[in-house]
Amino acid sequence: MIRFKGSCGADFIVTLNLDQVMSVKRKGNSTVTIFPDWCKGCGICAAFCPAKVMELNDQGKAVVIREEECINCGFCELHCPDFAIMVRPKVDDDIPAVCRAVLEKSARKNEKSAASVGAADKSASGKQKG
Ligand code: SF4
Ligand code: SF4
Repeated sequence: MIRFKGSCGADFIVTLNLDQVMSVKRKGNSTVTIFPDWCKGCGICAAFCPAKVMELNDQGKAVVIREEECINCGFCELHCPDFAIMVRPKVDDDIPAVCRAVLEKSARKNEKSAASVGAADKSASGKQKG
């Protein structure tokens, strides 16, 4: 169940099944678009994509070569200095766009909290050793 506030200010509640929720972060469920006119070929996306989705072509521009491997982590879109990458979930008519946005936001928030818990654990174990 997802609650969200509409642009009109009203509260909405939508019920989704588990498959719909999981489909947002599943591998191969995203489209990756690179805008060649904006890409300056820095290679950040190709170097750091955990799924090796992009590479630089002969013209020094990033191109998508393995879109089906994308796990929608959002790294490339977030770190491209020229805002040349767009990663979006594949269209699933069963899920209203607004629900998808809420799910993605929540998934990213969970990943951030998991990362900060991991960092805190490392720091605590480092202090114990020292
Ligand atoms: S990070 Fe952006 S500018 Fe750099 S190679 Fe990738 S798409 Fe091009
Ligand atoms: S969203 Fe993540 S997995 Fe997908 S192309 Fe970008 S960096 Fe790679």
